Amino acid sequence: MPFDLASGLAERRAAHLYRQRPLLEAPQQPEVTVDGERLLAFCSNDYLGLASHPEVIRAMQQGAERWGVGGGASHLVMGHSTPHHQLEEALAEFTGRPRALLFSTGYMANLAAVTALVGQGDTVLEDRLNHASLLDAGLLSGARFSRYLHNDANSLASRLEKATGNTLVVTDGVFSMDGDLADLPTLCVTARSRNAWVMVDDAHGFGPLGKTGGGIVEHFGLGMDDVQVLVGTLGKAFGTAGAFIAGSDDLIETLIQFARPYIYTTSQPPAVACATLKSLELLRTENWRRDHLNRLIERFRQGAARIGLTLMDSPTPIQPILVGSSERALQLSADLRACGILVGAIRPPTVPAGSARLRVTFSASHSEAQVERLLDILAECWNRLAEEPGTDA
Ligand code: PMP
Repeated sequence: MPFDLASGLAERRAAHLYRQRPLLEAPQQPEVTVDGERLLAFCSNDYLGLASHPEVIRAMQQGAERWGVGGGASHLVMGHSTPHHQLEEALAEFTGRPRALLFSTGYMANLAAVTALVGQGDTVLEDRLNHASLLDAGLLSGARFSRYLHNDANSLASRLEKATGNTLVVTDGVFSMDGDLADLPTLCVTARSRNAWVMVDDAHGFGPLGKTGGGIVEHFGLGMDDVQVLVGTLGKAFGTAGAFIAGSDDLIETLIQFARPYIYTTSQPPAVACATLKSLELLRTENWRRDHLNRLIERFRQGAARIGLTLMDSPTPIQPILVGSSERALQLSADLRACGILVGAIRPPTVPAGSARLRVTFSASHSEAQVERLLDILAECWNRLAEEPGTDA
């Protein structure tokens, strides 16, 4: 019997790695209905609370009335419309780069950039904790692909010595499962010493990081000489959907000419671009969102330390609680849920074996009282987990 899918699924279940999709019956907001239950959620990537902002919703409605609901065709055929173009120009200006190119998803933007820039005879070096789409892109490119130790410039340097052809160093800006920042200043100097280019996927940095939400490059004051390929996604702090790559004119033209994940897919609906133009404006100008978010993060970290939780070295809205085994992570997540709190358990292969965690994320739309409630319930559930036989909380 060739395809024994059932036993693969049973094995996954037995290893506590079976995944389920909670059914959300409400907009992205702190208080949600999930599978019929009212819960306080800490697992959205809507970091600035823009996904259900009335002005962003209105921009999308007006965009749909004016431009229809579908992209209609690929960008190179007849799917590149004025809102896409305006958004690309606004994103170029926002990132301080000559041009930006819009993609339908971040996954595709990452596949596009890596596969268009390196191939056989070239080298791609990635942080071992990079997002799956970057790792997949490295494999797909056909270039020599190697992963350096997390955020370790020495490990990168030793791989750079053996690199051949065009060499691309690729890193997340904010690591999506740990919340920590790439040590970009050091990585960029290391890459430049070997004439390698640096590509940063700042999916989680745009919005929360930098004075005007310009992400990790703004945070560290880096320019296009340091980071040649800058990727941002729009489904997180921007609150909408899609992604962009910002860089030189030649980079963007190369992507348009050669990047298969760009060429062979339908453009995103123009109404989404209309909504993103509005959310970009709010993201840049409403600094109170970043300030409030930072206060919540600070408050959570202090409270978590008092409870004795193990957090990561993260200054961002991603605040994982390290638990260890998948079984215990699932148990803690279930205990929180029984008390009205929704936080997802993240397990291998998304994170390394033995490092299952609860990935708590904060949004500017959470209140301080909601964070206090999370901490109170966490204290109760964590103590209960510690008392259970066979657990080591
Ligand atoms: N890069 C990172 C770091 C991500 O976390 C994600 C999404 N989880 C992506 C890329 C993919 O973006 P999208 O969801 O737009 O495909």
